[in-house]
Amino acid sequence: MSEQQSFDVVVIGAGPGGYVAAIRAAQLGLKTACVDAALGKNGKPALGGTCLRVGCIPSKALLDSSRQFHNLTHLFSVHGISADNPKIDVGTMIGRKDAIVKQFTGGIAMLFKGSKVTPIYGFAQLQPGNVVKVKQHDGSEVELKATNVILAAGSDSIELPFAKFGNDIVDNVGALDFDKVPKRLGVIGAGVIGLELGSVWKRLGSEVVILEAMPEFLAAADADIAKAAAKEFKKQGLDIRLGAKVSKAEAKKDGVHVTYTGADGKEDALIFDKLLVSVGRRAATKGLLADGTGVKLDPRGMIEVDAHNHTGVDGVWAIGDCVRGPMLAHKASEEGIAVAELIAGLPGHVNLDTVPWVIYTEPEIAWVGKTEKQCKDEGIPYKTGSFPFAAIGRAVAMAEPAGLVKVIAHAETDRILGMHLCGVNVSELVHEGVIAMEFNGAADDLARICFAHPTLSEAVHEAAMAVDKRAIHKGN
Ligand code: FAD
Ligand code: NAD
Repeated sequence: MSEQQSFDVVVIGAGPGGYVAAIRAAQLGLKTACVDAALGKNGKPALGGTCLRVGCIPSKALLDSSRQFHNLTHLFSVHGISADNPKIDVGTMIGRKDAIVKQFTGGIAMLFKGSKVTPIYGFAQLQPGNVVKVKQHDGSEVELKATNVILAAGSDSIELPFAKFGNDIVDNVGALDFDKVPKRLGVIGAGVIGLELGSVWKRLGSEVVILEAMPEFLAAADADIAKAAAKEFKKQGLDIRLGAKVSKAEAKKDGVHVTYTGADGKEDALIFDKLLVSVGRRAATKGLLADGTGVKLDPRGMIEVDAHNHTGVDGVWAIGDCVRGPMLAHKASEEGIAVAELIAGLPGHVNLDTVPWVIYTEPEIAWVGKTEKQCKDEGIPYKTGSFPFAAIGRAVAMAEPAGLVKVIAHAETDRILGMHLCGVNVSELVHEGVIAMEFNGAADDLARICFAHPTLSEAVHEAAMAVDKRAIHKGN
């Protein structure tokens, strides 16, 4: 017989959805526990989910290390800076990444302590009647009775049936931990992970070939932005092959043998030292729900929820990657806060229409709101204004002139429908669009605001003016 403890809120999953929900619930005076099954590289429990252990944070650590190296070997010379024979020590780079992961996963344990969230380490399953059964790592079981349960189980990589993960065929976990720069790196899927991790190893010297099934590059982004980014990736030597249907991937002694049919219909074969499979992620709902809970999964295994993340079962909520909407850490966190507030009787809310996207390549890609294609498909009358970083003094002074900002506004009301960016530091600039949209701003509002000079933000200002064909320096 396992012991039973009672809580106001039990959260399953301590990723950016779950841990944030737990802290907010505890702040609001609710007795809260958060259960997580994950172990870190050292075999010990590690809170923080995909984001902190094997996602956002470690990938950005490697993107930054490889960017420094790339700048040293490719950019610094224009500033008159040179270094003899620069080298990258992969062990040191991976060690730095691991230390950052340790600092942040450990930080969540400290935050739990500070806000009086009870952490429970093990695999949790929701039973009927809002009981959560946890199998702890030592094999013992605990039962948690909860007034409210928040399911925040996150997501796992999709594995292709003909490319089982192993030593040389890897997902993000493996590609964040190579012990040396692979001479030839194959990537299946030119999505966010393929582009980010492909960039990391390309900058360090790998020959990278990315095989993408779709005929179009980065279909989720605005076409002008995707085009500008593709041009820069080509210059960097990223070999992106569109319309490529991979049929076989076999790890052999001399490398991973990959067979694919190209856009021209011809079959081709390539050999790589490592193959990264990044073809999307699926909700991690396997084993999460016992029979009879009443919680419904959609055909893709995602938990069905309403606009307020309620599952339809009394006191059961679900947030983050395991429910509809973009699989992004900040979206998961906002849902966590909203649900904790709803449980406490406050008006929690997340606006999925203004969740920003960022791809941390070089140049960075970012957007919020609708693309031009979406406006066309939805029959929304629109106008656009674009402005290139090549005409922005600060970007040129930084020797980072690539890319542009594009603002899409409603043709009649001038209300901003979307902002799309490609360029240096646009991961920060995109929030100018997010804030403007959240305040129902018009392109003219942005156009009439005074922006500091010289800054990259001036590209946002000029793009907003370009909507009305009155950009000063270029564009329109
Ligand atoms: P997760 O972070 O996946 O956390 C879920 C947690 O629940 C895990 O720790 C898991 O072990 C635990 N769990 C699951 N089932 C159970 C169970 N039954 N019992 C106990 N515990 C359980 N997003 C961004 O916004 N920006 C980025 O830069 C970014 N970079 C990324 C890079 C990579 C390589 C990857 C893979 C993802 C990246 N993401 C990024 C996506 C981001 O990581 C996810 O959107 C985010 O982690 C989702 O948060 P979550 O809380 O829903 O789930
Ligand atoms: P993704 O959905 O971004 O991209 C997958 C790509 O693989 C798509 O372009 C798809 O057309 C292609 N594809 C699918 N099946 C294929 C096949 N059989 N052969 C060739 N190509 C195929 O998925 P991802 O890159 O795995 O990332 C998963 C999710 O993680 C992202 O969608 C995002 O939500 C999150 N993430 C976010 C960030 C960020 O915010 N910067 C970074 C990494 C991951």
